Amino acid sequence: MRIPIMAGNWKMNCDNPAAIELAQGIVAGSASLSGCEVIICPPFTALSAVNEVIKDTPIALGGQNFFWEPEGAFTGEIAADMLLACGCEYVIIGHSERRGRFGATDEDFTKELRAVFGDNDATVNRKLKAAVDAGLKPIVCCGELLSEREQGMTDAIVSDQVRAMLDGCSKDQLTGVTIAYEPVWAIGTGEVCDADEANRVCGLIRAVAAEVAGREIAEAMRILYGGSVKPDNVEGLMAQPEIDGGLVGGASLKADSFCTLIEVAGRG
Ligand code: PEP
Repeated sequence: MRIPIMAGNWKMNCDNPAAIELAQGIVAGSASLSGCEVIICPPFTALSAVNEVIKDTPIALGGQNFFWEPEGAFTGEIAADMLLACGCEYVIIGHSERRGRFGATDEDFTKELRAVFGDNDATVNRKLKAAVDAGLKPIVCCGELLSEREQGMTDAIVSDQVRAMLDGCSKDQLTGVTIAYEPVWAIGTGEVCDADEANRVCGLIRAVAAEVAGREIAEAMRILYGGSVKPDNVEGLMAQPEIDGGLVGGASLKADSFCTLIEVAGRG
């Protein structure tokens, strides 16, 4: 049996006082809940402060990104050991808001493809290996654009992403990896993917993971759905057999709504 995960991606929200208050609200609201692993991913600047709030609770801390080199002249970047030193157990890798290509233009920034930060399948693959080797548990993201879905390319795009992300990883490296299926058109839009369809794509991801990692590791792997998960749509999603929890942006920024998601996911 796979224990579900509810992971809150706070993105570029919350200064330290707000982050502490939100973390305290989640600690209080989830204290009596069970059956679900809870992860919160504040901005880098708030990691240590939030870790002080959650350190004696079952809630785990995650980073939203990192760079694969251990140290050096990489202005603006964060190393895996730095995340670990702040108390992180998890790290999100390859979120669609970080994918794109370097040298993007003003026009690119306005398209559905968020072309700002330049992560791609190759950098995600490097980050995944570096995260695992450093002792962080990766939550690796994949998902199609709206235009790709409309052209019937969802399965091909997602399968290719998963194969590329996991490429060259040993079975040991893949044990404990979590994958998040996040259709780009559903992130932050209020437009949630139909639960049956999300379940189907998560099943496809598991099948592709099995090609790389073997059946046993793929069966144990948590595959999350992300994209406008809210208290009013979470039940249908969590009832799906291939969906092992959620990666949540907007609804993780309010303690009461995030705790509702935790409660529903933990019902099993
Ligand atoms: C996310 O941040 O990964 C996400 C899915 O955001 P939201 O829940 O706001 O759509």
